[in-house]
Amino acid sequence: MADVLIYLETAHGADGAVLKKPAAEVATAGRAIADALGGRLVALVTGGAAPEGVLGRHGVDHVYTVDGEAFGRHLLAPQAAALQAAIAATEPRAVVMAASVLGKELGAFVAGRLGWALMSDVVQTAVDGDRLTAVKPKYAGKALARLAAAGPAVISLRPNAVQPQESPREPATEALEVDAGAARVRLREVVAAGEKKLELTEADTIVAGGRGLGTPENWTLITDLAAVLGAANGASRAVVDAGWRPHAEQVGQTGKTVSPKLYVAAGISGAIQHLAGMSSSKVIVAVNKDAEAPIFKVADYGIVGDVNEVLPMLTEAARAFLAG
Ligand SMILES: Cc1cc2nc3c(=O)[nH]c(=O)nc-3n(C[C@H](O)[C@H](O)[C@H](O)COP(=O)(O)OP(=O)(O)OC[C@H]3O[C@@H](n4cnc5c(N)ncnc54)[C@H](O)[C@@H]3O)c2cc1C
Repeated sequence: MADVLIYLETAHGADGAVLKKPAAEVATAGRAIADALGGRLVALVTGGAAPEGVLGRHGVDHVYTVDGEAFGRHLLAPQAAALQAAIAATEPRAVVMAASVLGKELGAFVAGRLGWALMSDVVQTAVDGDRLTAVKPKYAGKALARLAAAGPAVISLRPNAVQPQESPREPATEALEVDAGAARVRLREVVAAGEKKLELTEADTIVAGGRGLGTPENWTLITDLAAVLGAANGASRAVVDAGWRPHAEQVGQTGKTVSPKLYVAAGISGAIQHLAGMSSSKVIVAVNKDAEAPIFKVADYGIVGDVNEVLPMLTEAARAFLAG
């Protein structure tokens, strides 16, 4: 029980299945735990994604693949069947996955079934003596909970919380035969979003807007800056509720939790429910015309001003800077 098993999510693009961006972060965290325990790092890849170089580069010793139609899409039951088969084959001390929508659900499901500890949406992991430990932000990042598990645990890791480290290996690949069971849920159709968008939870840079933008037409101030910075778009609940933006862009307690390197919050007041989703961002830049707005309490850089004036200036400055 010294090995660590990582579950890696795949995305289906035009070129077939590929590993999603948090794979390197999950592998890095898993490698560190495996090193501390003196065990191997084993990866599970489902749905036909080629085990890419990223696995060996970030310290994976062994890869299990589970192929077949039922595992191609991220439905909970077949993924749980595949993960439980990999757990039975590995007998790991810890299972680590990304704290994505699927990862949080799958982690809770499998931990519940096995009666294991669950450490969900954590930003740090370690081994302390014979205990697995983790750090989890609480109350919009105002407090950090330190978790410890004496026995085996399932850990989901917040995307962008860990800096990928290299630890080259040449992993062997082994196919696992898994019975997906009778499908109680069938995926009938996948409708792709109209535009190709960066996944909010995986983005390094996010430009987010709130009610301070004034009108939905003004949203181009957000998308213009985001385009120059190569950023994803985020939104407060106020603009999602108003129908300006889709719920997929909502950041916060009832939206997504993000941890980008740079989070630009424009015309967002900084309500506690919004902070719950973004206060662990590395650098926060806030633009608000009210110098007393709560967002400035968490901002690293604050600009007191009107979004209609400040955002075009930021966009031009970023464009000029990036053009060299
Ligand atoms: C159970 C629950 C869950 C919630 N979940 C979420 C959640 O997940 N995410 C979330 O975001 N909210 C959530 N909320 C709502 C939250 O409480 C706030 O109402 C919401 O975040 C406010 O959005 P906002 O900052 O865009 O709007 P407002 O609070 O209206 O703030 C607008 C800001 O823009 C500034 N402003 C106005 N005009 C300009 C201008 N021209 N230039 C610059 N600045 C300007 C104002 O000074 C103000 O600070 C939740 C609430 C509840 C009760």
